[in-house]
Amino acid sequence: MPSSDQGSAPDCIFCRIVKGEIPSTRVYEDEAVLAFLDINPVAAGHCLIIPKEHHATLCDMPPELAVPVMNALARIGKAVMAATGAGGFNCLQNNFAAAGQMVFHTHWHIIPRFSGDGLTHWPHAPYADKAAMEQAAESLRRALT
Ligand code: 5GP
Ligand code: ZN
Repeated sequence: MPSSDQGSAPDCIFCRIVKGEIPSTRVYEDEAVLAFLDINPVAAGHCLIIPKEHHATLCDMPPELAVPVMNALARIGKAVMAATGAGGFNCLQNNFAAAGQMVFHTHWHIIPRFSGDGLTHWPHAPYADKAAMEQAAESLRRALT
């Protein structure tokens, strides 16, 4: 990739961006990773970071791509802060439709954040009691075996 179609899905919009069939505003590229501006940003400088190979979700991505992706995320996150004057950034990744994934080529959002920008995180609340917390952990441990 991207010189051959191996690792590419013909109907995937992000694969078509990798191949240059659809225009994008690229900000970073290496052998394994491409980063470009989100067309509908939360704030100016909002980037999408993708492995060039097509993998629908994080669960499909081979672990060896984690290192180049993680390196790009840290590098682009720092660059987004320097370029926009943001005080921080959110690194966000959606998996499956229920979690808000719209493009099924795994990707990470880097969203510039400013103190008092009005964006809030998810609502959250403590477990009902210690037993409910332990039950949640036990179900997870079983799912991991
Ligand atoms: P998801 O909800 O799947 O995590 O986010 C997909 C993101 O891709 C959205 O924020 C959307 O604005 C962005 N996006 C969708 N199509 C295109 C496109 O053709 N070009 C660019 N640059 N971004 C896109
Ligand atoms: Zn793809």
